Amino acid sequence: MKKLLLGLSDGELKLLAAEAGEKEYRGKQIADLVYRQGCRGVALMSNLPAKFRSWLDKEYAVGRSQIVKTRRGKDRTFKVLLTPAFGDFIESVGMAYEDRFSCCVSTQVGCSVGCSFCATGAGGFKRNLAAGEIIDQVLTVGEVAVREKMLPPDGRVSHVVFMGMGEPLMNYEATLTAVKLLNSELKVGMRNITISTIGYVPGIYRVAREHLQLTLAISLHASEDTIRRRLVPGMSRFSLKDIVEAGRDYFRETGRRVTFEYCLLAGVNDSPSEAARLAELLKGMNCHVNLIPFNPVEGKNYKPPRADRSADFRRVLEDGDIPVTQREQRGAGIEAACGQLRRMQRQ
Ligand code: SAH
Ligand code: SF4
Repeated sequence: MKKLLLGLSDGELKLLAAEAGEKEYRGKQIADLVYRQGCRGVALMSNLPAKFRSWLDKEYAVGRSQIVKTRRGKDRTFKVLLTPAFGDFIESVGMAYEDRFSCCVSTQVGCSVGCSFCATGAGGFKRNLAAGEIIDQVLTVGEVAVREKMLPPDGRVSHVVFMGMGEPLMNYEATLTAVKLLNSELKVGMRNITISTIGYVPGIYRVAREHLQLTLAISLHASEDTIRRRLVPGMSRFSLKDIVEAGRDYFRETGRRVTFEYCLLAGVNDSPSEAARLAELLKGMNCHVNLIPFNPVEGKNYKPPRADRSADFRRVLEDGDIPVTQREQRGAGIEAACGQLRRMQRQ
């Protein structure tokens, strides 16, 4: 199996050039080719000496995916089903807004956490993605957006959310390498990158110590441990208190306000008393809560809450001085909304 050039930093690419007996600036040329010029293969790097190209070709591939299918939504949203460089199938989403273009990436093929309301979790875990396979999704979604005229030819992805398939903090090295390269090579602002975690506590402490200006979103979904364990069985070893404390630590270390995500499930976690308990749990913390109404997933018995129930839930939080936003529903018609991504095809 060849190694991927995507996922290597400028410095690492310079070392690679030196290893091949080439001048250092050749490394910078490769970075320009793979990160900024959309070059898809070593054989296409015509501005490199033929000798260096054939040296590279023995061990390295660029790391680009193949698009299997593109589905367009009504709301300037699309979803691509991709075969990443090391195989399998993953999904990524592009969303055009007036002032930005956002890409939602997957970090794993499947997910081991198995949340009871999530389509990805239902399929189990297959493998971690490599950093290059994560970066490829942003490049690919950007290219599709240009083709679909959602971005001008010189436009670029301005925001990246790690909210696709998989738990980013359980694929820590690849996620962090991708984050740093998205920032340094693709010029996505650190503050415009969001990692969403299901509350994997050791990962939260670890990422805090990177001292990056990333946005951290923690999926909570409950204000009481018995309900949380039922909804998120794969994280039962961490209590809500432990998770919220890790969120407080993240704020202390980085100064970044943490987002708590809460997927509202009718009759399960949407009562005013749960909202009051949530407000109590988060009291005094510099955070905000993002309410996500359940997106229907085939084979799951949950329902989204009635509008008056979610409005009540929101009001109780606001009365407790917790800032709240409600997630704009995007991509639902093409199963591209939060938690709806899944491996649709098998090899
Ligand atoms: N594994 C990470 C990131 C991927 S999921 C995490 O769980 O945070 C992104 C968000 O979608 C999470 O907040 C997740 O809880 C939520 N989600 C999953 N299934 C959903 C569904 N069917 N409807 C609404 N939100 C869902
Ligand atoms: Fe995994 Fe997140 Fe889905 Fe849970 S919600 S199964 S952690 S992708």
